[in-house]
Amino acid sequence: MERFKIITFGCQMNEDDSNSIKSFLENLGMIEETDNKKADIIIINTCTVRQHAEDKALSLLGTLKKWKTKDKKIFFIGCAAERLQKDLKNKFKYVDYVIGARSYDKIYEILSREIKNTVVANIKTQGKKVDYETIIRGCNLKCSYCIVPSVRGEEKPKPFKEIIESVKNKALSGVKEIILLGQTVNSYRDFQEKKDFTDLLKEISRIEGIKIIRFLSPHPLFFNSKFFEEYKKNPKISRWIHLPLQSGSDKILKKMNRGYDFKKFKEITQELKKADPKTSITTDIIVGYTDETEKDFEDTINAVKEIRFSMAYCFKYSPRFKNKDPLTVTETELERRHSILLKEVKKIAKETMNEKIGSIEQVLLYDSRKGKTNTGYNCCIIDNNEEKKDFLKIKITEIKNNTLYGRAYD
Ligand code: SF4
Repeated sequence: MERFKIITFGCQMNEDDSNSIKSFLENLGMIEETDNKKADIIIINTCTVRQHAEDKALSLLGTLKKWKTKDKKIFFIGCAAERLQKDLKNKFKYVDYVIGARSYDKIYEILSREIKNTVVANIKTQGKKVDYETIIRGCNLKCSYCIVPSVRGEEKPKPFKEIIESVKNKALSGVKEIILLGQTVNSYRDFQEKKDFTDLLKEISRIEGIKIIRFLSPHPLFFNSKFFEEYKKNPKISRWIHLPLQSGSDKILKKMNRGYDFKKFKEITQELKKADPKTSITTDIIVGYTDETEKDFEDTINAVKEIRFSMAYCFKYSPRFKNKDPLTVTETELERRHSILLKEVKKIAKETMNEKIGSIEQVLLYDSRKGKTNTGYNCCIIDNNEEKKDFLKIKITEIKNNTLYGRAYD
């Protein structure tokens, strides 16, 4: 057993889990493979947030029936695996292992058993500049449209010291930007060590080599003055904050059980901008949630106009289960609201991007000419950048194809 392939659906947390499994297998001497035919193990890391994501994983699983032999192994893991468990084993008898998101740690034990005869090879150093670090699994909240708490369970924060150790190792392998992950990442607490999310940001920013700390996704409920103070004085904290709004209507926010109203959300964005006016705020919005009237929808449009998000990911509401929070608008109306919202979001995103012309941006370079600004924009460097630098200050001169272009400033 030598070769493995991992197929990942869903969010960055799944990406991070797949990356950990990949490193684990590589450290055991396995080789990553892109061609199913050549793989000995296929791991499907699944998502269940939307029916569509679950269907895609199941359809992929169906196509593996022909591929499967006694010596080849299929692992179906993650959130959809958690939800479907036995049903899945009954329907797809040829699947070797179904490991849900709550029993995620089991996968390492089973993989070690399966590939025990593989010779340990050289440990690969990844050489990447950006990497993820999952700091909490699960979620303690109960947003009405979300399936995460039922598949991933209650919040399980990773111990503070373990996170620091892991980030130090990543920094040693060349990582410059670390992205902390959690369903409500800023609710992080290590009760034993008496450390919270801001303490974690402070400690990570002391690690040599780490230049940017980003986090996904914070929840409006867990911002506090301690965080804002640190944000203001710590330039290593990314100036790109992805803060999910979901709806601009207080009635809908209440129905969604989000725990805040638009006023509270707006105050957070004002605090962020006050601490650093360059802050770029992106968001998620669900349109057409149960009982959303035209007035509620207008509240969302007005919220978008007021906050002026740099970008918003707009989703059409799709009930995850029949009878629970049904769709109360027609498909045509849902489509109409979605396209109006998209149009407004794109218009504002373009305007906020244009405002960047003339500004000085800190850019993490992926190669000598391309990178990302600390505020989350793709950026190209016009001058020849012969020096092998990781970071450059760039003066933005123009915008093309949703990318900032500029010249080295210092
Ligand atoms: S906070 Fe996020 S993960 Fe938790 S229930 Fe709400 S939407 Fe789901």
